[in-house]
Amino acid sequence: MDKIILGKKPVERITYPNDAPPPIRFAAEELQTYLKESLNVEIDVEKGVPAKGAFFISTSELNPEVAADAGPFEEGKYDRCIVSCRDDCVFMIGENPVSALYAVYDFLQDRLNIRFFAPGREHEYIPTHSALHLENGFVLQTGSRFVIRDYVTNNSETLSFAVKNRVNTIKWEGLNCDAKDLETIRAHGVKLRGPGHIWSLFVPDESLFEKHPEYFPMLDGRRTVNHRTACFSNPEARRIFIQKLRNYLRENPYWDIFAFWAEDVKDPYYCGCPKCTDMEIPDWYITLVNEAARVVEEELPHAVFEFIAYHGTRFTPKQVKKLYRNGENMLFNFCIGYTRDLYNPFEKKTYGSAEVFEMYQNWRNYLSDVGFKGQIMIMDYYNLCEEPNQGPRGRALLWPMEVIREDVRFYLKEGIDGVGDWICFDRLCWPSPFNVWCWLQLWKNPDTTVEALKDDFYPKYFGEVGDDVRKYMDELEAAMHQRTSPENIEQVKALTQMLDSIQPSQRNDQLVHRLKLVRIHHEYCVLLKEIFQAFSENAPEKWQALEKPYMTFFEETHRSDLEGHIDIP
Ligand SMILES: [Zn+2]
Repeated sequence: MDKIILGKKPVERITYPNDAPPPIRFAAEELQTYLKESLNVEIDVEKGVPAKGAFFISTSELNPEVAADAGPFEEGKYDRCIVSCRDDCVFMIGENPVSALYAVYDFLQDRLNIRFFAPGREHEYIPTHSALHLENGFVLQTGSRFVIRDYVTNNSETLSFAVKNRVNTIKWEGLNCDAKDLETIRAHGVKLRGPGHIWSLFVPDESLFEKHPEYFPMLDGRRTVNHRTACFSNPEARRIFIQKLRNYLRENPYWDIFAFWAEDVKDPYYCGCPKCTDMEIPDWYITLVNEAARVVEEELPHAVFEFIAYHGTRFTPKQVKKLYRNGENMLFNFCIGYTRDLYNPFEKKTYGSAEVFEMYQNWRNYLSDVGFKGQIMIMDYYNLCEEPNQGPRGRALLWPMEVIREDVRFYLKEGIDGVGDWICFDRLCWPSPFNVWCWLQLWKNPDTTVEALKDDFYPKYFGEVGDDVRKYMDELEAAMHQRTSPENIEQVKALTQMLDSIQPSQRNDQLVHRLKLVRIHHEYCVLLKEIFQAFSENAPEKWQALEKPYMTFFEETHRSDLEGHIDIP
């Protein structure tokens, strides 16, 4: 029996142009894989031209005539693609190679109801179908509202998950990317962004200290080797710094976005010598940015140069009011969590957000004053880097998705070009993958609602008990976000009754385990609340008694259940 039918004809192969770049070839393989999973159909992949009875995957650059027939891409979106059925052929056309890959993933989601909820096949929802019927005249147009959609990871499975949800940039963790990882990234067609905190490689080598202490930063009146800054007012120290940058770029020429970040330390200054203290950190930073940007342009002409508002540079320069080439090939990254009130929209300027908003506004004004022509992105920290055993921050990995939506919409309104995560996890599917997945959907389309995404997620991930789990999660979030008190703790504890009542009718091991994870998470919520209460009461005995269950929660007590759902140290 024919499984894929377009009009009245079977679709029996996947083709792509002879000279297709790796992402298009990869897109064809991905389409083949998921069609097999969902329809149990074996379908060949081959080089070829558009033909009846075929999927044809390409880009508007490789096949302008085909793209023209498919019609214009949607206005106001990025990495756009069109899937259209015409002349008994399924055309999947991206405006660039990664968009051809998105065409496949978006088609699979639209027509076969597949979802990519989290890294790893076990977190994907792949319903089986007996057949797929398509009609000539069918058109699916998709695109994303932000130019840059960045995900921090070094993990290939996480990368794959992110790209399936239209992430187009990977912030690589580490100072180098090896050939194998690079191949994976190129196959996906995404941009490689990094290295980030890299100044330790560029500052003058310790061996020079004896002969040239003047290259090194002055700390409390003494020259010191700190492996992260130099006496930047010394021209020779700066020359060494820039030369080392050049050498590094020659050895690591693969960055699409070169992220030039100082080391991750809150310095009072880069160097405390009288000459350096004539200017503050932001001025020295921009001085170095301007020199480094020229070198990056010379060595990696296609790369974008990224600079950052973070730690000492969250404040604007006072003296240096010029950016290399007006920043036309630069990306400015706001990384300003600090005192931000993450449980209320940024735009409201409530609590500490007012202070952070001022930093934001000052930088926007600075960029505008210097005639900045580059792009701007924001990296957000909704989970506060809450990792197992990092301390009782009390959020229990429950993110305020409605607030995140408001923030994303605000960024769009502000003309921000890019968004990025700082999730700190390769996998965060606990208590469920909803939050991370929801965040990525909002990057694609900030006009969608959190409730609509819940409608989509819960029945697919939790099956017949989806509605019950959703109700429980809503109540849990409400209780967890309330002020901690003995009554509040009782309220959180009482939610076990809701959990007890959630009983799937059929034996389904995967669902049983997912529900168990929700229950373990509830235990974690109670524990965090109790610890917080003990702190507030200044009751060290109570706190000490809770220390052990807390410290062993991930590594020992629940390791076997949680592994594969959350990174465990
Ligand atoms: Zn100095």
